[in-house]
Amino acid sequence: PQEQRDVVIIGAGAAGLMCAIEAGKRGRRVLVIDHAKKLCEKIRISGGGRCNFTNIHTTAGDFISGNKHFCKSALARYTPYDFLDLMAKHEIKYHEKTLGQLFCVNSAQDIIDMLLAECRDAGVEIQNPVSVNGVRPLPDKANAPKFSLETSKGTVTCESLVIATGGLSIPKIGATDFGHRIARQFDIPVTAIRPALVPLTLNADDKAFCKTLSGVSQDCIASVKKQSFHENLLFTHRGLSGPAILQISSYLEPGKSLSIDLLPGQNIEDELTAEANKKKTITNVLAPFMSKRFAQEWVERFSENRTPADMGSKKLRAVAETIHKWVITPSGDEGYAKAEVTLGGVNTNDLSSNTMESKTRPGLFFIGEVVDVTGHLGGFNFQWAWASGHAAGQAV
Ligand code: FAD
Repeated sequence: PQEQRDVVIIGAGAAGLMCAIEAGKRGRRVLVIDHAKKLCEKIRISGGGRCNFTNIHTTAGDFISGNKHFCKSALARYTPYDFLDLMAKHEIKYHEKTLGQLFCVNSAQDIIDMLLAECRDAGVEIQNPVSVNGVRPLPDKANAPKFSLETSKGTVTCESLVIATGGLSIPKIGATDFGHRIARQFDIPVTAIRPALVPLTLNADDKAFCKTLSGVSQDCIASVKKQSFHENLLFTHRGLSGPAILQISSYLEPGKSLSIDLLPGQNIEDELTAEANKKKTITNVLAPFMSKRFAQEWVERFSENRTPADMGSKKLRAVAETIHKWVITPSGDEGYAKAEVTLGGVNTNDLSSNTMESKTRPGLFFIGEVVDVTGHLGGFNFQWAWASGHAAGQAV
């Protein structure tokens, strides 16, 4: 059977559903196709099950992209407050956890229910599980459909085709490179991609050291070149994690080093050389600033547990430097199985920042994580999904 729609959206995730709602409200006949049995799994598992659905301080500076201006137009036309209006309409409770990060009080399911209810009200049809076996461009004719899709349910044609299949993280809940493949099929460039917001793995020595501290968390500033994040670091049995590490992982090129200040705002050299501390052990001088266990392991690895009086100023400075400027070269990262997002994607040079439509293939749109716009940790990736979905929803 051959069906016809105005708009077909592939991917019923955050961006795809927002686009469907907006297009449906404009009276477009919208079909959303997803290959997953269970819809919105990524929303369900996000934010530890409570979905950090936006960040009230969202600015273009919270995103990484080949073109730092690209995200501005869509973000300006759909702000965190617009999403909060939608939450208010559905009486969904939320709270600010930290740094502008908004989470559901109850569960991420509230947001899924809200999106699906909005789709129903807007007359959107969702088909799942349905797979798309191929996309074919149709001859260019005025007022005629532009694309034909072969799906497991038959053929469907459409005027506007929206790719909202997300990134590669968490393949076990249905992430695929479908969007990147479609871009390549239509000669639309895709930037280099890699896992981001991802825990880092270490070489044998550093890994053994981190393992001894597994479970310890420490306030820190993690930096790569001029980019830095002041948040917590978590030692794990595999390496380094915690918000500061996830954030900086998005800026760390493979094989390069990062630098960590484990006592931001302190001057530990002053403490180590203070008259009052001369006769204490180094561990005891450090202990008030970090957990005792951390101080002990640190001294064992990078120093000797003597008194400052026994050590020259050069050695004390070196100890302070390991704490304020711990330089570490990860062996890699935990990959798409653990990454929150994919860095890179469909090249923004090919897309209109106003509508998300391809400049070289009219009628084809890319939204959400499949685009080369990657948010920092803290609700920014969902805000991009809502905003880019909304922008395309006004244009399809
Ligand atoms: P998705 O929401 O991933 O949706 C893509 C959809 O496309 C899916 O339904 C998928 O089944 C479908 N699909 C894929 N391939 C195909 C195909 N070949 N055929 C048909 N359908 C297909 N961001 C935040 O802002 N806050 C958070 O708290 C947060 N927590 C996260 C926690 C985890 C564990 C992970 C992995 C990510 C988290 N993120 C968070 C990131 C956020 O979930 C994504 O950036 C966001 O979901 C991207 O939206 P999207 O619509 O582009 O893609």
